[in-house]
Amino acid sequence: MVIVLLGPPGAGKGTQGERLAARLDVPKIATGDVLRAAVRDGTPLGLEAKAAMDRGDLVPDAVIMGIMGEALASPDAAKGAILDGVVRTTPQAEGLNAQLAQLGRKVDAVIMFDIAEDELVRRLSGRTTCDICQRPFFGREPGEKCAVDGHAPEGTLIRRKDDEPDAVRKRLTVYREQTSPVINWYDTHGARLVHIDAIGTLEEVEARVMKALQH
Ligand code: AMP
Repeated sequence: MVIVLLGPPGAGKGTQGERLAARLDVPKIATGDVLRAAVRDGTPLGLEAKAAMDRGDLVPDAVIMGIMGEALASPDAAKGAILDGVVRTTPQAEGLNAQLAQLGRKVDAVIMFDIAEDELVRRLSGRTTCDICQRPFFGREPGEKCAVDGHAPEGTLIRRKDDEPDAVRKRLTVYREQTSPVINWYDTHGARLVHIDAIGTLEEVEARVMKALQH
């Protein structure tokens, strides 16, 4: 199964994507996580992407399609994948369809996380993120230890540069202008598009995701 998670930053795609990937036993592919790891490690990809990411802008479609092509063709993704924050422009949606077609696959479902903007601002401004596993935390301060996975090395919680107020505003504008048209694109290109209410506890939203996929 290839499932695309669509929605604005802070809607919970990453958290729900991780749960869904575990349930379906497929990898979660999150371009944001790949890019942040590249920035942290100072690779050429990271150096290319860093400035745009810090501003809250999108990185070029060609860069994203390169990451996707590699991830989808890996043996890990043979049974499918959960794509988190990947399709952020209409050309990326088209590119993804073409890459999947080459592998004899298609997008099986698109889940749109519906949520109001004031809730997103509230969530993102209170969020810290593990610099290693990239898990988000609410109500915990930068500098604290992640201490969730027992992953080694242990991560430290940081405030993402793009969770600062100016970058959040920019990301929401970019979402409205460049990403929200993707919803219509999928609607008119025969994909199975389901909307879920993204406000609620983790368990409530997870139950909605599972129900949406069963229909
Ligand atoms: P995320 O972790 O999904 O919020 O992504 C963080 C940042 O990485 C975004 O604000 C963009 O700068 C960049 N990024 C991640 N995925 C994409 C994508 N599919 N297209 C363009 N830029 C992306």
